[in-house]
Amino acid sequence: MGEFELIQHYFAAQAAARADVELGIGDDCALLNVPVGECLAVSTDTLVSDVHFFADVDPVALGHKALAVNLSDLAAMGAQPRWISLALTLPKADDVWLTGFTQGFHALAVKHNVALIGGDTTRGPLSITISAKGTVPAAQALRRSGAKAGDAIYVSGSLGAAALAVQQRIHNLPINSDALRDCSFRMDYPQPRCELGLALRGIATSALDLSDGLSGDLMHILRASGVAAEIELTNLPIASAVQRSVTPEQALQLALGGGDDYELCFTVPAGHETAISELAVALDLPLTRIGTITTGEPQIIWYHQGKAVELHINGWEHFHHGEAGKTS
Ligand code: ADP
Ligand code: MG
Repeated sequence: MGEFELIQHYFAAQAAARADVELGIGDDCALLNVPVGECLAVSTDTLVSDVHFFADVDPVALGHKALAVNLSDLAAMGAQPRWISLALTLPKADDVWLTGFTQGFHALAVKHNVALIGGDTTRGPLSITISAKGTVPAAQALRRSGAKAGDAIYVSGSLGAAALAVQQRIHNLPINSDALRDCSFRMDYPQPRCELGLALRGIATSALDLSDGLSGDLMHILRASGVAAEIELTNLPIASAVQRSVTPEQALQLALGGGDDYELCFTVPAGHETAISELAVALDLPLTRIGTITTGEPQIIWYHQGKAVELHINGWEHFHHGEAGKTS
């Protein structure tokens, strides 16, 4: 199969139609209608085999995840997802792999109503570059720089499960099969929180998505906003599969230092607690208050049941073989 046929068969034929796509796959450029008065929000991510994913990963999961991590960036900006471009470098045109990859990719694209509008296909070591494009009125974009002292800090969903699955893959930790299934699903099928991002327009003062672990990612907001944060550790929504599988100390390390959750962390001014609780119900997604923005140098002050504590986040790198499952 030549490049043209491959693109036709796997990509062009399945590209969703959207009224704002003037011209899609097949010409030198796509032509897109950006709504008047809105900014184009663009984010690009590359996934390289053996660096960002295990080479033997299920291609369906890979197609999902490659798109999900890009849509997650649009969500974190409060942008309406619209268009996707896909640059694929493949060692060979493997039908089983391509069919699986496009299946995972298109299922998520359909779910979020985004149209594949172009890309590139080349031969070489497996690598996937996706650029997600959305739109947002400039004044409503959820930047990292707007957090103010007194704002409440929230996170969506739960933390730590994807990181535990990664650790299990690397160190073969003895984890109960139900918990492992939950964690692996979180690692392979992250859910971009696009509806949440849109709903936070005009409410959140800052937001980002959690790709590298809460403690490091929150610091991006603190530095961009010139503020500090107080976080109550007992309020962290640590995934139940993680709580069941490792010690409380390890669970904290995974939740704070482990990556791949793709939940949103955001700040809202005081007085919005009810609105956020109602939003959580409407979206059927836990939204948990974990702390407060304060004045001061960008830093996180950790509290445990109201008492300030020292915490060294070494994430999952220092997670040693055989320690999981210990209860003390
Ligand atoms: P060009 O030589 O102009 O870059 P290509 O032959 O690379 O054109 O691509 C032809 C058309 O197919 C273009 O519209 C391009 O955007 C699209 N395309 C190529 N690869 C992909 C892909 N992996 N997914 C979606 N569209 C693709
Ligand atoms: Mg090309």
